[in-house]
Amino acid sequence: MAAREQVARAGREAETAPDRSGVDPGSPIRRISVLGATGSIGQSTLDLVARHRDRFQVEALTANADAAKLADLAIRHNARLAVVADPSAYEALTSALAGTGITAAAGPQGLEEAASRPADCVVAAIVGAAGLVPTLAAVRQGRRIALANKECLVTAGTLFMAEVASSGAELLPVDSEHSAAFQAIGMAEPDAIEQITLTASGGPFRAWSLEQLKAATPEQALRHPNWSMGAKITIDSATLMNKGLELIEAYHLFPVEAHQLSCVVHPQSIVHCLVSYRDGSVLAQLSSPDMRTPIALALSWPRRIDAPTKRLDLAAIGQLTFDAPDETRFPALGLARGVLAAGGAAPAVLNAANEVAVAAFLERRIGFLEIARTVAECLDAAHGKGLLRAAGSIDEVLSIDREARGLARSLLSEG
Ligand code: NDP
Repeated sequence: MAAREQVARAGREAETAPDRSGVDPGSPIRRISVLGATGSIGQSTLDLVARHRDRFQVEALTANADAAKLADLAIRHNARLAVVADPSAYEALTSALAGTGITAAAGPQGLEEAASRPADCVVAAIVGAAGLVPTLAAVRQGRRIALANKECLVTAGTLFMAEVASSGAELLPVDSEHSAAFQAIGMAEPDAIEQITLTASGGPFRAWSLEQLKAATPEQALRHPNWSMGAKITIDSATLMNKGLELIEAYHLFPVEAHQLSCVVHPQSIVHCLVSYRDGSVLAQLSSPDMRTPIALALSWPRRIDAPTKRLDLAAIGQLTFDAPDETRFPALGLARGVLAAGGAAPAVLNAANEVAVAAFLERRIGFLEIARTVAECLDAAHGKGLLRAAGSIDEVLSIDREARGLARSLLSEG
C-alpha cells in the first residue's frame, strides 16, 4: 500500500521535494527527455515543448528504428542526444545528424544513457514491455517520470513501485484516466476513497456483434472514434485490453484494492475517470480527448500551462452517456481483471501474449477475436509450466516476458 500512495502524495510533496534532477535548480527552464519521441505521445509532448520554449528544453530523444524522424525532431528541438534502440538504424542516425553537434547513440546502453541524463522530467512513452528497462533507468536517477508506458506497471508493478519509492523518483501519470484520477484524488486520504472508475470509449467496435467482430480487419480496428494514438494501443482499445491494462496500472498507482477499481463505457471520452468517496461524493475530471492535456499537467505539475486543445462545450455535446462493458464480446477485460486478482507474473504473461497477438492481428495472421483467445490460451499454458509465480527481480520479469512471448508464438503457429 505504501508504494501505491506515492502518486497521491506527489502533489503534496512537489513544492518541498529535494531537487535530484541534476540540472541547475535556479533555472526556470525544465529540461525534458522523451523516450519514444517519434510516437504519438512523444510527438504530442514535443508539440507542447515547442509551444513553451521559455519553459522547456530538450535533453534526449529516443526512437526504435525511425532514424529519419528522430533526427528531424532532434534538430528541430535542439536536443543534445538522440538514440535509436535498434543498432541497425545507428548509421542512418549518425549521417542524418552529421554537423549538427547532436550526439547519436544506439542500443540498450544508448537508451539507458538517454534515460539517465540530467533532466527535470523524463517522459516514458516507448510502447510495450520494451519501455520497462529504460524507464527504470530514469527512476533510479530519482527523476520526475511522466509515465505513459503502462506496461512498466503491468509487467513489474510491485518491483517498479518499490524502485520509485527507494529512489525518490516522482511518478506522474500521463494516461488520461490516471491523470484524471490523480487530479480527482488530490489531497484525499486513502481511506476516504471508495471506488475509482475508469472510463472506456468502447472503441470502434462498441456496437458490433460477435459475428461482425469475427471478420473485423486491422484497418477497421485502427479507426478509433475519439483518440489518435499509436497502433498497439488503438488495437488494445478495440479489444478493451487497454482498459484491462489500465485497471492494473491504476492498482499500482493509487491506494486502493483491486475490488475498488471498475470501468464504465463512455463513448464520448469526455469524462476520463470518476473517484467516489465514502461520503457519497464523486469527483470527475473532464476534457476533450486530446493527450496534450494530461501530458501538459505531468510536465508542469504542480502548475498548469496552456495546452491548445479543443475547449469543452457541454451544451454542444449535449449528452454524456455511460454503459456497463460487455465482457462476452470483449473478453480481454475479464482476462485482465483475472490476472490482477491472480497477481504474481500473470499480468506480465498477459501483456507479453497480448503484444504478440496484436502484432499477429496487424499482420493479418489471426482474426480479431483470436487476440483475446491467444492471451487466454497463453495464460493457461504458462500456468501449466509454473510461469505465473511472482518474479523477485526485474531480470526475472524480463525472462518471464521472453518465455511468455515464445509460448504465445508457438500457440499461434500451432493454431
Ligand atoms: P507509438 O507506437 O505511437 O510510439 C511508440 C514509440 O516507442 C516510438 O517512438 C517508437 O519508435 C518507440 N519504440 C517502439 N518499439 C521500441 C523498442 N523496442 N525499443 C525502444 N523504443 C521503441 O505509441 P504511443 O505513443 O501510442 O504509446 C506509447 C505508450 O504510451 C504506450 O505504452 C501506450 O500504452 C501509452 N499511452 C499512449 C496513449 C496515446 O494516446 N497514444 C494514451 C495513453 C497511454 P519508432 O518510431 O522508431 O518505431
